[in-house]
Amino acid sequence: MSNSQSENIDLNKKKRGRPKTDVWEYFKEGPRNRGHCSAECNFCGWKQQIGQPIEMQGYIAINCSKAPYEIKTIFLEKVKNNGHLEYKNKNIKVDLN
Ligand SMILES: [Zn+2]
Repeated sequence: MSNSQSENIDLNKKKRGRPKTDVWEYFKEGPRNRGHCSAECNFCGWKQQIGQPIEMQGYIAINCSKAPYEIKTIFLEKVKNNGHLEYKNKNIKVDLN
């Protein structure tokens, strides 16, 4: 019969809300090329000729060295769910604990 849990929930709610999970929030959309947009990482400037969300998620989760921990964690989860974790796992420095 304790209400202490509600305090914890409030603490987790920041006014700015949760980060968006659309990978395009973290990439600049470049000029279209044959119907595909190129993509440029907002954090480090890495460019992909054809912006493919799965590749972009993988890049941020694993390869981007400037993306914030929080963002990397989000996309690492997505990449795992996609079954697309074919990168060099040993380089992952994100702890999901
Ligand atoms: Zn980057």
